[in-house]
This record gives sequence, structure tokens and C-alpha cells, in this order.
Amino acid sequence: MAEKISAVKGMNDILAPDSAQWEWLEAKVRALMGRYAYRNVRTPIVEPTGLFVRGLGEVTDIVEKEMYSFEDRLNGEALTLRPENTAGVVRAAIEHNLLYDGPKRLFYSGPMFRHERPQRGRYRQFHQIGAEALGFSGPDVDAEVILLAADLWAELGLKGVELEINSLGQPAERLAHRQALIAYLQAHESQLDEDARRRLHSNPLRILDTKNPAMQELVNGAPRLMDYLGEASLAHFNGLRALLDAHGVAYRINPRLVRGMDYYNLSVFEFVTTQLGSQGTVCAGGRYDGLIAQIGGKPAPAVGWAMGVERILELLKEQNLLPAAPVPDAYAIVLDGDSAPKIMQTLRRLRQAGVSVQMHASGPDGYGSIKSQFKKADASGARYALIFGADELAAGNVAVKPLRAGATGVPEQTLLPLDDASLWAARLLDSAPAA
Ligand code: ATP
Ligand code: MG
Repeated sequence: MAEKISAVKGMNDILAPDSAQWEWLEAKVRALMGRYAYRNVRTPIVEPTGLFVRGLGEVTDIVEKEMYSFEDRLNGEALTLRPENTAGVVRAAIEHNLLYDGPKRLFYSGPMFRHERPQRGRYRQFHQIGAEALGFSGPDVDAEVILLAADLWAELGLKGVELEINSLGQPAERLAHRQALIAYLQAHESQLDEDARRRLHSNPLRILDTKNPAMQELVNGAPRLMDYLGEASLAHFNGLRALLDAHGVAYRINPRLVRGMDYYNLSVFEFVTTQLGSQGTVCAGGRYDGLIAQIGGKPAPAVGWAMGVERILELLKEQNLLPAAPVPDAYAIVLDGDSAPKIMQTLRRLRQAGVSVQMHASGPDGYGSIKSQFKKADASGARYALIFGADELAAGNVAVKPLRAGATGVPEQTLLPLDDASLWAARLLDSAPAA
């Protein structure tokens, strides 16, 4: 046998039945986005490398070391597998002049790629669902996107997802804070780890975000950005707080919440849980009023977030909130292969009426014994067996046999006319558990 080929490290196959959990979550999100009037956008997975370098900032973890970048073999163009999708959505909005007739509320869902050390909740191909509100400047839309996420947790039944917020102010305020921060960190240079030393002048704000336990005390004592905010920034922050308070959305102000991308300003936030080990941020975002102009658009404010689908599913699993694997309503047992056309026509009619039917298919040795077929019917999880035997078929019937408790539509074995399948199809659904 030829040598096996495995998936790339940190990139996972999502197989049935787990894939049904993904579909279920995606459907919930889609419905909720619709209720908030956010519209779906689908941008390419590959973008020009420059989009991320310019959009995210050169001294970010992503751009410095996490991007899958390559040269187009034919024309040498620098390309990157998207590590996130805010930059892509903004690029698309600019390219198609989406804001010409006013602001836009958008969402996306799909795979992202980052070269990280794979571990629980951290993969090299992972999936994000994101909401982006482009062209809105007020704290009301900051609150709206946060409420959207909070409503999703509520709808999914998730517990223990806590909101942290902060304000990064405006660039000028950050600059003043930055100088004070650098001075403070320089005064304690001996306590800085290698990463912090490297960032001291390039991106000192990110040092506040360090996970190094030895540096916690140092960063806790650092000058706070909050103390450098001017009136307008504070008003925006307080506006957001007032709206969250009015909705009874609990939050914690975390002055060290800075976020990884350079494009953020004013409100930033994360939803975190303690139930997923060290990969506890399930959703993160903020305002990025400068990004649209930075990548070549007419200046316009914006706010959004991205959630990690793997982490949400993991949390749902921890809390036992995932739906059961899907099963067919009925399993078709085929005893007379010659009647396949007639049988398959009946199955098709049932499916057209909304019944999920799994057909027993033939193998190299035909259809197999009735016993082995019943075993498969049972293993499929179906509530009904449809028995297509020669005698039944000759009389124009199929025998419907309930296989499990809860099969109330046809509670005991019954002969039903093939030609009228569309009339009794619904009985096979009667006992379907409420979705
Ligand atoms: P972290 O600090 O955990 O690396 P981040 O700040 O890089 O997170 P964002 O870029 O803000 O993450 O992405 C938003 C969300 O996407 C994260 O909160 C997380 O839920 C998810 N996420 C980010 N990177 C990964 C990854 N490598 N694998 C799985 N999920 C991820
Ligand atoms: Mg990261």
C-alpha cells in the first residue's frame, strides 16, 4: 500500500457526527445575525500580504510570526492565507464602495490560518465567526455588537462567559501614555523578559498583555491608559457602559486589555471563560476607526468582533449543551433488489415530504440478510424500519415497523400503500423530538 498522507499539523478534519454540531451552531448564529440585520459577506481566503501588514501592524504577533505567506508561483505576488477577516471585510467594503449609501452591518464565518503552537483551543487552521459594523461612530453600536454576542451565549445556554472591556482612547492619547509607559518600563528594565525588551520601543502596549507570571506585578503597576484619556474618549467609554448597564449586561473593566492588532481604538472587549484552560477568550473585538483609511478607504469609523468557533464548541461540550448526533427518521430494508426502482421512488417521495430516509444499499454480495439489515437499521438510530419485502411489494405495500420508544406516528408494525407515501409520510415525523 502507498504511504499514508496526514493532514497538516494543527489543521483538523471536522467529521460527522461532530460536523452536525458546527452546522447547528452556524445556523443559530445566522438566525441571530438576521435578527440584528447583519448581512453575510464571503471574502477570499487568500489576500495580498500587504493587506495584513498594513492593516494589523508590523509589530503584531500575527504579522511577525504567525502568517502563512507565500509567493504566487506564476507572478511572484506576495500572498497570505487570511489570519483574521476584519482586514478582508474592510478591503472588500472599500473595493466595492459599500459605504456609499450609508453604514453597513456585516458578518462572516470561515477558516483562518495562523502558524501557532497547536494545543487545546489553539490551532493553525481555526474558524471564526465575526460581526463588523462599518461606518458607525457612536457607543450605541459598540453596545449593539456586544449585545449580539451576549444574546448568542444566552440562546446557546452558555454560562460563565464574562465580559471584559477597556478603552484604548485615540492615537494621540495612546502616544502620551506610551511615553510614560516606556519610561516606567525602562526604569524597571531588569525585570523585563526577552519579549518585553524586544517590544519596549516597537509595541510597549502589548507588554501589558504579557502572560509571563514573573512580570505580572510589574505590569500591574504600570501607567494606565485610562488615566490618559481625554473627555471625548471618556464620554464614549461611559456611553458604552451606560448602555451595557441599561441592559443588565455585566462587565469588568480590565485596564490591561489591549488586544493584539494595532487597528483598535476606543472600546475594546473580550468575552472570557475560566472553563477552557489558558485558551479562555471565546470572542474578542473592539472599535477600529482608523483601519478603513489605513487600507486606502475614505475615513469611516467601525466596530466589530470575532469569535473562535472551536472554543465555543468546546465550551458547549463542557457544559453539555451540544445537540445529539442527527439520525434518520427511517431506514429502508430492501429484500427484493429487483424492485429497486419502485422502492427508490417511494423513498424519494418520503424525502420530498420532509422525511429523512437512509436506504440499505447493495454490496458485492447483494443486499445481505434481513438480520444484518435490521442490525444496520438499529445502528443508524432510525425510529422506523421500512421493510420492502417481495410479498408486501407485490401487494403494493411497505411494512413500517417502529424500532424505538417514541415512534408514535406508527406505533406498531403496519402495512402502508406505496403509492400513497406522500399521504402517510408525516406519520414518520410525528414522533420526531422537538428541534
Ligand atoms: P490569543 O490571545 O488567544 O492568541 P488573539 O488575540 O490572537 O487570541 P483574535 O485575533 O482576537 O485572537 O481572534 C479572536 C478569537 O479567535 C479569539 O478570541 C479566539 O477565540 C479565536 N482564536 C484566535 N486564534 C486562534 C487559534 N489559533 N485557534 C483557535 N482559535 C483562535
Ligand atoms: Mg493570538
